Amino acid sequence: ALSDRLTSVFDRLSGRGVLSEKDIDEAMREVRVALLEADVALPVVRQFIDKAKERATGEAVIRSVKPADQVIKITYDGLVEMLGGDGEPEGLRLSANPPTVILMSGLQGSGKTTTAGKLALRLSKERKKVLLASLDTRRPAAMEQLAMLATQAGVDSLPIVPGQSAPDITRRALQAARLQGYDVLILDTAGRTTLDEAMMSEAAEIAKISNPSETLLVADALTGQDAVRTAKAFHERLPLTGLVLTRADGDGRGGAALSMRAVTGLPIKFLGVSEKIDGLDAFDAHRVAGRILGRGDVVALVEKAAQDLDVERAEAMAKKLAKGQFDLDLMAEQLKQMKRMGGMEGLMGLLPGVQKMKKQIAESGVSDKTFDRQLAIISSMTKAERKKPDILQASRKRRIAAGAGVDVAEINRLLKQHRQMADAFKALSKNGGKGFGQMAKM
Ligand code: GDP
Ligand code: MG
Repeated sequence: ALSDRLTSVFDRLSGRGVLSEKDIDEAMREVRVALLEADVALPVVRQFIDKAKERATGEAVIRSVKPADQVIKITYDGLVEMLGGDGEPEGLRLSANPPTVILMSGLQGSGKTTTAGKLALRLSKERKKVLLASLDTRRPAAMEQLAMLATQAGVDSLPIVPGQSAPDITRRALQAARLQGYDVLILDTAGRTTLDEAMMSEAAEIAKISNPSETLLVADALTGQDAVRTAKAFHERLPLTGLVLTRADGDGRGGAALSMRAVTGLPIKFLGVSEKIDGLDAFDAHRVAGRILGRGDVVALVEKAAQDLDVERAEAMAKKLAKGQFDLDLMAEQLKQMKRMGGMEGLMGLLPGVQKMKKQIAESGVSDKTFDRQLAIISSMTKAERKKPDILQASRKRRIAAGAGVDVAEINRLLKQHRQMADAFKALSKNGGKGFGQMAKM
């Protein structure tokens, strides 16, 4: 596993206190192997490693965290971000004017028909009236497979009329869905085992006729390196809106998810997790990132590392504060920490009985966006300016404002806020530095 490999890299380097560029290079070579073993496509691996290196280089070494664990955390965070981050799992987009059309696309055997049935079940549980229609004219058995899934899901399927072309069935299905008041029409297309022009142009034509709200590319999580080629080809020809990865229950490591997401930029909406009709889970970036790294306990490890990191940063901050050194770098550090703790929303969520405060904060206009803008301002300054903001002249403020995309008034507000905080900390440190230990723990 990656952690063992990294541990052995860093064992050789033990005794050194900083993550040097060379250490990071060596660690990243191991990360690279791990990603390739998880079947992430090569160009995506390269892209990922470049970013992770950049991140790791900026990170100070943390005393209480093993360097190997620190690199795993950086890698894990990078994977989660690249997989779409912490955002709510995106459900299906339903049209305001029913019927909403959902078009299933993908290679043969990827799991389109099965997933169509699973989505039908999910939607019917949400009290939607669903119609399933098979456009797989080449294989009569496929039409019957879909009709059976419809029965299992407790929804309707379009009656089969032999001899009709896929575009004709599409029109018939649309008409039936409109006339009979269906909320959702799911169109299941035919696939080929390999990419070919006939399949693509047929799918494109169906998309044109049916104007879907969702065009989902269904792909097998076990396809590995082919995933990129498939995703690219479909993305070029169809107005794709999302991905579904099937066979996430297999022993693949989930590299295809990362590859496809990176190449198309499309959200992964669902994971297929069994052959059964209820085997469909909302996508979860953390679960897949842990899987790619190849260890079940990676999440716990990462959480522990993050905690140690925060404690250590807080201690370092308290030390500087006690010396009366509250400069803008420290303020930026604090803003970042607040963001890591879930931003304003997250911080408020931690406190009991905060409804009233929440409202006040909302009215004061402070939001996570404010944090981001403040961080942008600070990072547009020179090192000297961050240490001693008093040296900032009007002309520099204008330059910084332009660089950070804010107006000068916002810079002045930030400087004022910084001065107030610095004064407060100074007053505290006159108090004999008491209370800092307390604050660090907070
Ligand atoms: P299609 O050709 O794209 O329509 O693929 P099918 O829906 O017919 O699926 C092909 C095979 O994959 C069937 O045997 C399914 O039961 C199986 N399958 C589909 N999705 C999953 C999944 O998420 N997990 C597992 N284990 N099998 C799946
Ligand atoms: Mg099928």
